[in-house]
Amino acid sequence: MCPIPTGLFGLDGGAMFGTVPKVLWERSNPPDEKNRISMEARGLLLKSPGCNILIDTGNGGDFVAKYGEKMGSKFADLFNIHSDGPSLLKSLDFHGLKPEDVHHVILTHLHFDHAGGATTEKNGKLVPTFPNAKYWVQKGNLETASHPNVREKASYYAANFQPLLDAGVLNIMDGAKDNFLPGISAIISNGHTQAQQVVKVTDGATTLLYCGDMVPTSTHVKLPWVMGYDLHPLTLIEEKQKYLGEAADQSWYLFFEHDPYCDAAQIERQGNDFAVKTRFWL
Ligand SMILES: [Zn+2]
Repeated sequence: MCPIPTGLFGLDGGAMFGTVPKVLWERSNPPDEKNRISMEARGLLLKSPGCNILIDTGNGGDFVAKYGEKMGSKFADLFNIHSDGPSLLKSLDFHGLKPEDVHHVILTHLHFDHAGGATTEKNGKLVPTFPNAKYWVQKGNLETASHPNVREKASYYAANFQPLLDAGVLNIMDGAKDNFLPGISAIISNGHTQAQQVVKVTDGATTLLYCGDMVPTSTHVKLPWVMGYDLHPLTLIEEKQKYLGEAADQSWYLFFEHDPYCDAAQIERQGNDFAVKTRFWL
């Protein structure tokens, strides 16, 4: 099980913490001069002989190819996307894998900071980044990404998924599914966006929940700490109540896609809420 950092970027701290006052979040997540907090875009590699599974792909790097000259450079600047540190392909290479070696790519949802690395430019054409992989996505999320509402228009780009459809490599699931790959189950969360799939990975003894944007950082473990970006905050809080309760009671590891300060944590109940017990670098 290998964390795959794909590079730091920045999002507005206010948007990341919704109604939580800045005086509360700025201590744990200090903002820069444009009020952006540091974020990781961290995938997860499940590596086993003959089967390599990647969950989420980060922002991708070829913004100009995907979004055009003007939007591409604006994009990297607006979100302070670092191109000098780790990247999706560099992190996979660190674990001895080339793009051809990845067999499955599970996309929690198609927001650009999760699906940006799913496609890449080759000979002037956008193609799947992983030529031998099946990609897994939820039907409801693909539908909303294809016809985004006004609020999410800036997060869903056809360039990140249309090439997968064109190449016929997209496995479209409709709803929660246990063991769609060995030891891997999809849980549906509709609070952040329509039909995000949170991924539960277990070997029978240890269980890890890849939280995606249901709980983007360890600071978001507290129930009311939800993002301004979330479409349905109360739905999200109910979902957190259910799955964080299971995680606390059964000592699951929570894996955080966007936390720049840890990969994962175990949590505990604290009254009617939750708190981080231990943070980990895996
Ligand atoms: Zn998202």
